[in-house]
Amino acid sequence: MEKAVAPKKFADKYIELHLHLDGAVTSDIARKLAKIQGIPLPHDDAELEKQLTVPNDCESLNDFLKCFALPLSFMQTKEGLSEAVRLVSENIRSQGVIYAEIRFAPQLHTEKGMTQEDAVKAALKGISETELKVNLILCCMRGEGNEAANNETLELAKKYLVKDGGVVAIDLAGAEALFPTENYRGLFKKAKKANIPFTIHAGEADGSESVKLAVEYGASRIGHGVRSYEDAEVVQTLKEKGIALEMCPTSNRQTHAVEDMSQYPFMDYLNNGLAVTLNTDDMGIEGTTLADEFRYMEKSFGLTAEQEKQILENAVDSAFTTDEVKAQLRKELGS
Ligand SMILES: [Zn+2]
Repeated sequence: MEKAVAPKKFADKYIELHLHLDGAVTSDIARKLAKIQGIPLPHDDAELEKQLTVPNDCESLNDFLKCFALPLSFMQTKEGLSEAVRLVSENIRSQGVIYAEIRFAPQLHTEKGMTQEDAVKAALKGISETELKVNLILCCMRGEGNEAANNETLELAKKYLVKDGGVVAIDLAGAEALFPTENYRGLFKKAKKANIPFTIHAGEADGSESVKLAVEYGASRIGHGVRSYEDAEVVQTLKEKGIALEMCPTSNRQTHAVEDMSQYPFMDYLNNGLAVTLNTDDMGIEGTTLADEFRYMEKSFGLTAEQEKQILENAVDSAFTTDEVKAQLRKELGS
């Protein structure tokens, strides 16, 4: 008689390492947040959806970044920001996420008088009010004339940094092709000196040189890193150093990080032993969930249950949290 082999189980619990708070606002969350500040929204759900999600003819990361204005407007008060963190956390928890690192840029929440520090405190309040295990990543922004604002974010990260249960790292987000990684050498030198862990969006709208610089600065993870393949040496370094790639297929497709998804290097990186992780980036704007991203990779790239296990292990290994929490997450994932 043939021995029964238990069918391999595809993932139904997830770890989210790359999620932007403002990009994770669904129409349901938008209505709740708009109410708090009395912001008028279209009554028609389809119209609201249209305003919140990226158009199909989105041409670049720059186009994509324009979609953030509306969700950001909901988070210009302490209450709005706290509630956004709580609602987004609860939403992903209901979709099977068991641990998340939520990132946001404090400097984008100061339009109505909040200071960056108020924003950090409001987000901390938000994570204290959800049952999901959440840590925060503070984003510095690529841009012009915001050097002081980025330095302030860095100082706040220094002040509020914990190993778990709060601010655990910083990031660099924004228009990579317009404001190259080279411009931020000084910022990350300071972060390194202060022992603040960081991830950097790189190799998304710009090439492998951007990833190379991020690694040189000391990034322990890379946001996307899609275009690392342009330089075999960069790929080798990522592998040797075990630097995790926070890849986000739907986002990478919508921002044209690769022109043709058949050339998407995710499986190559994974098969080559790179610490690839799977994330949503901006689930509200993209109309996706982390579970959807896993199903998409199964369907379009033949991702196996075994590979999903590996991806989730990579995520736990590279999470900005303590060994105790990681052990707990491994237990919950059954690995
Ligand atoms: Zn991102």
